[in-house]
Amino acid sequence: MPERIFLSPPHMGGAEQRFVAEAFASNYIAPLGPMVDAFEREFATLTGIPHCAAVSSGTAAMHLALRHLGTGPGDLVLASTLTFIASVSPAVFERASLEFIDAESASWTLDVDLLATALADADRRGARVRAVIPTDLYGQCADLDRIRALCEPRGIPVIADAAEAMGATYHGRHAGQGAWAAVYSFNGNKIITTSGGGMLASEDESLIRHARSLATQSRAPTPWYEHTEVGYNYRLSNILAAIGRGQLTVLDQRVQARRRIFDAYRARLGHLPGITFMPEAPWGRANRWLTVALIDADHFGATPESIRLALERENIEARPVWKPMHLQPVFAGVRIWGGKISEDIFARGLCLPSGSALQDTDLDRICAIVTACAGAPGRIA
Ligand SMILES: *Cc1c(COP(=O)(O)O)cnc(C)c1O
Repeated sequence: MPERIFLSPPHMGGAEQRFVAEAFASNYIAPLGPMVDAFEREFATLTGIPHCAAVSSGTAAMHLALRHLGTGPGDLVLASTLTFIASVSPAVFERASLEFIDAESASWTLDVDLLATALADADRRGARVRAVIPTDLYGQCADLDRIRALCEPRGIPVIADAAEAMGATYHGRHAGQGAWAAVYSFNGNKIITTSGGGMLASEDESLIRHARSLATQSRAPTPWYEHTEVGYNYRLSNILAAIGRGQLTVLDQRVQARRRIFDAYRARLGHLPGITFMPEAPWGRANRWLTVALIDADHFGATPESIRLALERENIEARPVWKPMHLQPVFAGVRIWGGKISEDIFARGLCLPSGSALQDTDLDRICAIVTACAGAPGRIA
C-alpha cells in the first residue's frame, strides 16, 4: 500500500519542541502558566485583537462567548448553515433557538442579503436575536463589514467563527478582527495546531475577563473556592500553549504553502471539463485551509464520491464538503433561509488533501487519479 496522504495533517515548524522543553523545565505541567500567557499575548499581536483567552477547543471558545451573552431559552441565534456543527452546538447547549442562513455562491460564506431578510423577520416577530455567527469557511472570511452594518444598529453581537481562518485576512485585517468576538481552533487538522485547543478573542475586555473566569470553574479569588455561578474546565494546558507559540512563528509560511497547493491543483486539474474551484472573495485573502473542487458530474464524467473512493483505494484521504446544518438529522425542522446554494456545494464539492507539507510527488499521485476519473462527458462513473 502506498503511504497514506492525509487531508490536513499537523505540520510542526521546529520551535515547538523548544517551547515545550521550556515548559517542562519550568514544571508548569498544568492548565494555565507562563506559556499560556505568552501564547495569548503573541496571538493578540498577530491578530490585532487586544484581549484573548486560550481555551481547550474552538467549541469551548464559542460556548464561553454565548454564555457571556446570557444566551438561553427564548433567544434566537442566526448562523451559517454551511459550517461544522461546532459553530452552533454551543447554542444548543444553552437551549437557544437556531435559524440557519444559506451561503452565497460568490464566496460560499453567509449570504448577507438573506441575513437581512432573517433579521427583518425577527424584528417583525419581536424575536430576540442574541447573536449572529458567520463562519469563515475553509479559511475564507465572511463579509463582516456588511454583516456588522445589519447587526450593530440592532445591538446584536457578531461572533465570527474563524476556526478555519487563522492567517486569512479581510480588507487587510486578520480574520475575526472587527467582530464583537472571534473564535479560533487549533484542532489537529487546522492550519496551525496545538493537537487540540482554541482561542476566544475580542476588543471587549469584560467578555474575556468573564470567559477566563467561566473557563476556570468560575471560582472567585477567595482562599476557599467561592462560586456565584457555574463554569467549566475549559482552559488550555501550558504544554499545549507551548506548541501553539511555535506554530504562530510559522503561520505565514503555512498560509503560503496552502495557497501554493491550491494554485497547483488548479493548474493541474483546471483544464478538465466540469471542474471548478472554490472562488476567492474580492474582500480578502483566504488561507486556503482546504482546497475544495466542485465537480459537475455530467461534464466531468465522474461524481465527487467516485473520485473520493478512487483516491481512498490509493490510500489518499479526501472528504465531502461540510454537510449543511439544515440537512442534519439533528436539526430537522430548524428554519433555513434559502438553502439551495449550500445544498449544491455539498452535492458537488470535494475537499482534496491540503496539508502544508504536501510534496510535489504527492500532488502527482493525487492529480493522476483525479485525472483518470474524468471520463467522456455524459458517461458518469
Ligand atoms: C474546527 C471547527 C470548529 C471547532 O473547533 P474545535 O477546536 O474542534 O472545537 C468550529 N467551527 C468550525 C467551522 C470548525 O472548522
